[in-house]
Amino acid sequence: MKTLALIGSFFVLCAMPASASAHTKLLGRSWQGRPIVAVEVGDPTGTRVLVFGSIHGNETGGIAIARALERLTPHGLDLWIVPDLNPDGVAAGTRQNAHGVDLNRNFSFRWRRMDGVYESGPRPFSEREARIAHSLILHLHPHVTIWFHQHLDMVWASGGDRRIEKEFARVSGLPYHPMPQLAGSSVTWQNNTLHDSTAFAAELPAGQPAPAAVARYVRAVFAAAKAP
Ligand SMILES: [Zn+2]
Repeated sequence: MKTLALIGSFFVLCAMPASASAHTKLLGRSWQGRPIVAVEVGDPTGTRVLVFGSIHGNETGGIAIARALERLTPHGLDLWIVPDLNPDGVAAGTRQNAHGVDLNRNFSFRWRRMDGVYESGPRPFSEREARIAHSLILHLHPHVTIWFHQHLDMVWASGGDRRIEKEFARVSGLPYHPMPQLAGSSVTWQNNTLHDSTAFAAELPAGQPAPAAVARYVRAVFAAAKAP
C-alpha cells in the first residue's frame, strides 16, 4: 500500500533517544520546516497506544505529559508518542498551523468547509501535519489514540469504546462527557474509519500541569491501554 511504503521511508532513526529503549523517528516536517517526530517506547509486541501531546499550538500542556511518557519503558505496551504535531503553531502561539488551518478540522470524515477559528482548510488533508498524523495512525492502527487538548477540563468522548474512555477519566480525574462528533476532527475520523480502535480527546485544565498531575495522566494512559 502506497501510504505504508511512504511512511516507512520517513522512519529515519534520529540521534539522542529519550530513553535507552526509545526510538525516535522523523515523520516529516511542518510547513515551516520544523521536524515532527514520533518516539516509540516499551514492547513492540505489546498493545499499541498512540499519544499526541499537542495539535493546537496554543494548547501545550500535553507536551509535558508526552515528554514524561518518552522516558518510560512500559511493560506490555507498544507506546508511540508524538509530542507536538503542530510545531509551527506552538512557535507562533496559535491554535492553527502556519497556513491558519485548524488541523483538527482538516480530517476527512464529515469534513465541511469552515472559516475563522475553526478554519478547515480548502479540502480534507490539505495540511501536511494532518497528513502526517493520518499516515501514522493508518500505519500503526493503534488500540487507543489519545489527543491532549486544553482547556475544557474533561474527557471528550465521541464514538470510541466507552469502557476505555471512562477508565481514562476515572484515573486521570478528568470528568467524562459524551460529546458530538466534530466535523473533520481527528477523533471523529479515527472512530469511524478504523475498526477495533478508540480515539478520544483529553481536555486538560488551563496552564501547565504540575508534576503530580503529569504522573496522574501518565497512569491514566496506561490504565486506558489496559482497559477491556
Ligand atoms: Zn484543542
